[in-house]
Amino acid sequence: MKPEGILLVISAPSGAGKSTLIRTLCRDFPEFGFSVSYTTREPRPGEVHGRDYFFVHREQFVALKEQNFFAEWASVHGNFYGTPRDQILESIRQGKSLIMDVDVQGARQLKDNLGRVVYLFIFPPSLEELKKRLLQRGSDPPGVIEKRLHNASLEMLESDFFDYWLVNDQIPTAYAQLKALVLAEMLRPALHPGLPQRIASGKWYV
Ligand code: ADP
Ligand code: 5GP
Repeated sequence: MKPEGILLVISAPSGAGKSTLIRTLCRDFPEFGFSVSYTTREPRPGEVHGRDYFFVHREQFVALKEQNFFAEWASVHGNFYGTPRDQILESIRQGKSLIMDVDVQGARQLKDNLGRVVYLFIFPPSLEELKKRLLQRGSDPPGVIEKRLHNASLEMLESDFFDYWLVNDQIPTAYAQLKALVLAEMLRPALHPGLPQRIASGKWYV
């Protein structure tokens, strides 16, 4: 039997620090792939097409959606976002681990459609701090920040179906918790098929 990878879905209100934590996780665990979503929003300074997102026009997104290209998609803060189905299927086929950064609507759709997936919701320590982080990031105009703050309260109310909750107050603590979650998930039997038999035959480390 082939080992499974970890499918990790992470949601958080915009500005809670999800991308910051995911970047560090992907650096420390190179075996994790990152599912690059499609979006109709404009790229932020420094964002790279194909690395952060595939930036597409609305018509392109709608055409892809109609071809059933997305495993899930949602309209978030006035733009479309979607996870390509083939990236997930390829990870499952190869037994590779994959991180998916999606909003709560997307997480719900994946929950209905995928098998064993770990769902993590990241909270900011407060809405005041969230506003500070969005302002400090400086990547969104004031109207967009207000919309993201308004949506934050609604998203947090939808967090009850996630497996894990994490508050990103101080980065080192939050990251240590995220790492602990990943390390624990790596101990699941599905990731180590045939382990008892290998131990019995004296070759557990193969
Ligand atoms: P998200 O991906 O959830 O929208 P980001 O990772 O882009 O959020 O973080 C938003 C801003 O907050 C960034 O400027 C980031 O450097 C900062 N940030 C992230 N985590 C923390 C933290 N624990 N304390 C203070 N600032 C943080
Ligand atoms: P941002 O514009 O700040 O990069 O992302 C805004 C929101 O869209 C975040 O909540 C993020 O998790 C979500 N998002 C990013 N990619 C996807 C995706 O492929 N599908 C869904 N449903 N949401 C996504």
